[in-house]
Amino acid sequence: MERNIKMLGYQGQKSLEFYLDQLPDKKYDIINDLRLFDGKYYFQIDVLVLSTAFLLDLEAKNRGKEIIFEPELDQVIIVRNNSRERISNPVIQAKTQASKLKKWLQEQNCVVPSVHYLFVNSNNKTKITFSTHNPYTKLNVCNSEGLLDKIGEINSHEMEKISQKELKKITRLLLANHVPEDPDILAYFEIFQKDIISGVQCPHPDCKVFGMEYRYGTWCCPKCGTRSKDAHIQAVQDYFLLIKPSITNSELRNFLHIDSIKIANKILKSMSFPYSGKNKGRVYYKPK
Ligand SMILES: [Zn+2]
Repeated sequence: MERNIKMLGYQGQKSLEFYLDQLPDKKYDIINDLRLFDGKYYFQIDVLVLSTAFLLDLEAKNRGKEIIFEPELDQVIIVRNNSRERISNPVIQAKTQASKLKKWLQEQNCVVPSVHYLFVNSNNKTKITFSTHNPYTKLNVCNSEGLLDKIGEINSHEMEKISQKELKKITRLLLANHVPEDPDILAYFEIFQKDIISGVQCPHPDCKVFGMEYRYGTWCCPKCGTRSKDAHIQAVQDYFLLIKPSITNSELRNFLHIDSIKIANKILKSMSFPYSGKNKGRVYYKPK
């Protein structure tokens, strides 16, 4: 018997993928359609580019014949099918999401590199017009084919602020806290978690039953009586692989079927995983 294996995929902003694919994999992490909860509201980032020197929040749009940035009240007009309609200013949107992201990461005790933001027009038939000279807005707008130049430009002005290890930690933390917007996907995600058999599996080759019991530092199989000191290691590895790359004390207790916070703490500490946060809020991460 094996635990079910299904993979979760993150839907991408296909139109920018062609350009972002050209960035060196080692240097940049990219997260598409990231949606986080700030304690009160959800906020969403179309594409997030992460490096050790900066984070870049991209707000991508692919519509309309013309997008006009007006100086009055920073209004933005979109022209399509011969009609003109005001839309939320995508540069201000990107800026707002970027500051929410920064705050969110700081609250998780992360060292946060500078957070930049850009509105990217990903439709090569759409023309962008600035109705007057507006250097500030222009700096934060580009067409998709100009995206790599923009990233290069930001990179040339920024110093390395965090290590590769810290970068991976931030990426993992964001992915672990992503909340899918589509209720169907969310439902799928919940079913998917419930589908996975939890509990520690008996290592005896003829038994393999799930649900070993923890007694005085030893896992005991209720079916065949096999005893093991480290049968939980495989279970935690399965959790990282099948559910998500991070785990809290209460998630561990749920998954391993143990009641004691103290014992769960002891088990987590014994595996020396990287972690962030304090006390109840501590999150442990899958090691490389
Ligand atoms: Zn057994």
